[in-house]
Amino acid sequence: MLRTWLGALGALTWIVTASAPAQTQDKVRLVATFSILADLARNVGGEAVEVTSLVGPNGDAHAYSPSPADGKRLADARLVLVNGLGFEGWIDRLVKASGTKAVVVTASRGIKPRQMTDEDEHDHGKIDPHAWQSVANAKVYVANIRDALVKADPARAAAYEADAAAYLGKLDSLESEIKTMLAAIPAERRKVITTHDAFGYFGAAYRMQFIAPQGVSTETEVSARDVARIIRQIKTQKIPAVFMENVTDPRLMKRIAEEAGAKIGGKLYSDALSGPDGPAATYLDMMRSNLKEFKSALAN
Ligand SMILES: [Zn+2]
Repeated sequence: MLRTWLGALGALTWIVTASAPAQTQDKVRLVATFSILADLARNVGGEAVEVTSLVGPNGDAHAYSPSPADGKRLADARLVLVNGLGFEGWIDRLVKASGTKAVVVTASRGIKPRQMTDEDEHDHGKIDPHAWQSVANAKVYVANIRDALVKADPARAAAYEADAAAYLGKLDSLESEIKTMLAAIPAERRKVITTHDAFGYFGAAYRMQFIAPQGVSTETEVSARDVARIIRQIKTQKIPAVFMENVTDPRLMKRIAEEAGAKIGGKLYSDALSGPDGPAATYLDMMRSNLKEFKSALAN
């Protein structure tokens, strides 16, 4: 009797200890380079994927300096999700230094990159990395993330495919919302100044003009000549508003708006989400928050 009881207890202990850690170990560890990619990965991976981000909310991934702790996180990951297009200039060295065996997945694979031309003084010949600002591109990101998860964890393929399909549906609704809303703004008022050139894909997709004193990286120096040129442009082209960005210093934009007599629009989320309590805690919220700012500054 006692023996049976002890045997049952032993079996019970075994079940408890064996099943609890198995569940966490079972999760796919995915490290994204920045907050926007992490959010897309959470929407596709659901509960099965443990997603972390190297550059956090409101962080500037152009100018990021990785820490030894970041290397450790990569070493423990099964998937490393990067934007590509030269956005994370520091990632290749970090991957190498970490010795990780993780599969590196490029979210932007297959999109048509925006190539900068002669007119883009700071960026001649460079590629614009901010592809996520067009919803059509975000859909490509989601498909790439889905395919990478299915490959890494085929047992859960059906769940990843279903979650990706549901999220792609949300992106479709977002895209028609953007098109409808911007159609209500007269073409000549769809002109915006931002600190760095992060909205080129948005502008090309939804026919808005963005002008920035800085180039496609926040690391570009802005000269007095750049500032003078922008002020002239605001005046001659009657550009209605100048916007702040969550990842850049607002002082330059305030000065430009003041000198040009332009209206200061709200804060745009360009390269990072807001914190969880902010207006742009997810990709969908970020795009809607930016849209709301454009609408209030440019309509009428
Ligand atoms: Zn940027």
